[in-house]
Amino acid sequence: MVELKLNHIYKKYPKSSHYAVEDFNLDVADKEFIVFVGPSGCGKSTTLRMIAGLEDISEGEFYIGDELMNDVAPKDRDIAMVFQNYALYPHMTVFDNMAFGLKLRKYPKDEIKKRVEEAADILGLTELLDRKPADMSGGQRQRVAMGRAIVRDAKVFLMDEPLSNLDAKLRVSMRAEIAKIHQRIGATTIYVTHDQTEAMTLADRIVIMSSTKNETGDGTIGRIEQI
Ligand code: ADP
Ligand code: ADP
Repeated sequence: MVELKLNHIYKKYPKSSHYAVEDFNLDVADKEFIVFVGPSGCGKSTTLRMIAGLEDISEGEFYIGDELMNDVAPKDRDIAMVFQNYALYPHMTVFDNMAFGLKLRKYPKDEIKKRVEEAADILGLTELLDRKPADMSGGQRQRVAMGRAIVRDAKVFLMDEPLSNLDAKLRVSMRAEIAKIHQRIGATTIYVTHDQTEAMTLADRIVIMSSTKNETGDGTIGRIEQI
């Protein structure tokens, strides 16, 4: 079953002379793990941000199931996103960082507690719920960032280079964990990386995005092929 559909998607940023994404088409099946790979600037982040609703789509349609999502506000999308830079709140504890998105959406307190504790269990953060990000390692912070997304129990999970700030050894172990977490939460996932090993290990399907921008910068980029 197709869960997520991108139909002839184009993105042109204001003031830019070229498309950041040009005629992007993709059908993603329920629970599929898709990886976007490609060089810097080919439109991976832009595509993810359009799916999350953090950037407008210039042309084309984005559907989840039968619902047209183009004009749905980010907070009303059943989509959770993990950012490369973690985007944690430094003054909040791990618990509060993970609870924040649920509080924003007015979940009851006991439901919030239940979901945060479950996510902490999945991510091995149970002992760290009272810590603040400054007192944690990079790997632990990345887990918290994933926890913030997992507690949402969203249908679609987006990850934009989640491991790129970690050292090589930690990247390998977190990679294995992400595969396990995907098995366990079963969300449809789109994962951006420029690391081909990461792509090969994690993906059900890899979407290779390539830049076709010419030297003068007035060409177009964001063409794709799929393997
Ligand atoms: P990737 O994630 O593959 O590195 P991006 O989606 O970040 O690629 O960028 C795609 C293109 O859009 C690049 O040419 C980039 O310079 C441009 N771009 C990205 N964000 C913005 C922005 N906020 N304003 C204008 N241009 C942008
Ligand atoms: P999360 O679901 O990751 O916990 P929140 O629910 O706290 O995020 O985020 C509130 C709103 O802000 C959402 O619409 C989310 O898409 C957006 N948002 C969260 N983090 C960022 C970020 N680093 N940059 C831009 N928007 C963000």
